Amino acid sequence: MICVSIARGRHRYLLAELQHLAKQGVELVELRLDCIQSNVQIKRLLTDRPCPVIATCRRQHDGGHWSRSEEERLMVLRAAIAEGVDYVDLEDDIAGSIPRFGATKRIISHHDFRRTPEDLETLHGYLASLDADIVKIATLATHPNDNLRMLELVRSSSVPTVGLCMGEIGTPSRVLAGRFGAAFTFAPLNPEKLLAPGQIAFSSLRDLYRYDSITPATKIYGVIADPVGHSLSPVVHNVACAATAIDAVYLPFLVPAGHLRDFLASASRWPLAGLSVTIPHKEAVLEEVSARDDLVKEIGAANTLRFNSDGTIESFNTDVTAALEALRAALEEQEAGFGDRRGLKSAMVLGAGGAARAIACGLRRQGVDVTISARTAERAKKLAEAIGGKAVDWSARHRLPYDCIVNATPIGMHPEVNETPFEATHLRPYMVVFDTVYNPENTLLVKEARGVGCRVVTGVEMFVRQAAEQFRIWHDQLPPRDVMRNALKQATSSVRVIE
Ligand code: NAP
Repeated sequence: MICVSIARGRHRYLLAELQHLAKQGVELVELRLDCIQSNVQIKRLLTDRPCPVIATCRRQHDGGHWSRSEEERLMVLRAAIAEGVDYVDLEDDIAGSIPRFGATKRIISHHDFRRTPEDLETLHGYLASLDADIVKIATLATHPNDNLRMLELVRSSSVPTVGLCMGEIGTPSRVLAGRFGAAFTFAPLNPEKLLAPGQIAFSSLRDLYRYDSITPATKIYGVIADPVGHSLSPVVHNVACAATAIDAVYLPFLVPAGHLRDFLASASRWPLAGLSVTIPHKEAVLEEVSARDDLVKEIGAANTLRFNSDGTIESFNTDVTAALEALRAALEEQEAGFGDRRGLKSAMVLGAGGAARAIACGLRRQGVDVTISARTAERAKKLAEAIGGKAVDWSARHRLPYDCIVNATPIGMHPEVNETPFEATHLRPYMVVFDTVYNPENTLLVKEARGVGCRVVTGVEMFVRQAAEQFRIWHDQLPPRDVMRNALKQATSSVRVIE
């Protein structure tokens, strides 16, 4: 069950949101009384409430907004209990001074904004001893495995428990709470009023992550990255699983570089079924895998992992095929191919990072002459040597004409949408222009290339194809490509909300 937290400065907005949520079938709402700007009128809020509510009045040092006296706060909580509120949230240090009364259930809560303590069991035992109907522990995750320790505590507890990790690293604990037997999870109604770091808005948790249909049988997938907040892979994969009725959930795992080994070593505890891999782990991950497919061996980087029941981890690279397929589709429109007279014989790849490497390798495999130009000349030279291509200075990138220009830098990506890595005056109608940036899809480079009459391949086409191939590897089914493409396009068009 999702408990939706609502935080408003005025009673009437709080009441309106409560009614609205009840109409949507929400079964539990947390009223954040600490956000009310005037005297709290508890009777007004609780009379004729349309669904069960939790009364919470959080102090500032526990992450709340209460700015008046502690005495007044305790009065508000006592008044809520006297009015027969369904649940009251009592922090562990005040639980002893507010006795049980009537039918109100007691949530005994503890917050730690610095870390997730080592000994969660002792803390849990103490909270349960404070006449708790439900124990709630919210701690800051500083390691991705803090999520696991918290979720395993929830699963082993005999007292109903809500255990959540805060911060972006802690997001998985919020989505998987029910899978591990938590009494409920929390989600704010309004994304713009997120009440704690790492929270997911109610609508996303319900509709994208399908929280209520996650069971112990639901397979767990995700993306490992640092940062991970901007990733659109959760949107694309969750929508694809919903469309094909696959019982799986796909999560954003924020895994800092130093925690990669520990995270993968604990894969069976979640248990993980598959992962997308992105910056900064695409190369480092190879030290942890049991098997590499041919492209991974050739490129030295993986973007996909599959976890087998015998504990082995297979690695794949779907970026290369995705980029080539996207380019091939554009060439076929004019019945041309790689290396042929009307197709691509030469390409300029801008950038020398992971995407540039995958695309440059793929093009070389097709017999295309590849030139690399990157801001850091040394990186360009190294990549050119590795793939059997040439390197030119960044300042010389416009000097010679090429059949294909590939942007494998972030230039043009949101929010720098007025930038382009290649001046329009050097574009020619016979060129194929491939911009790997997908957010937005119509970058300035894409717009200018279309204006000149070039054939254009967008980052969306590559992104959808690499994700579709991951889907096929993990679920052994045909991927719903159109569904994935539409989800990505919709998400990139509302990028300001997502970020
Ligand atoms: P990366 O490994 O960090 O490499 C980025 C490259 O861009 C480096 O060569 C970097 O140069 C260069 N660069 C960064 N900012 C620059 C600037 N302001 N001016 C000139 N050069 C700059 O990243 P990556 O994984 O290759 O990803 C690169 C881009 O590809 C991403 O931003 C993303 O938009 C796109 N991408 C798309 C897909 C897809 O499926 N569509 C998949 C992967 C990546 P330095 O070495 O000097 O920093």
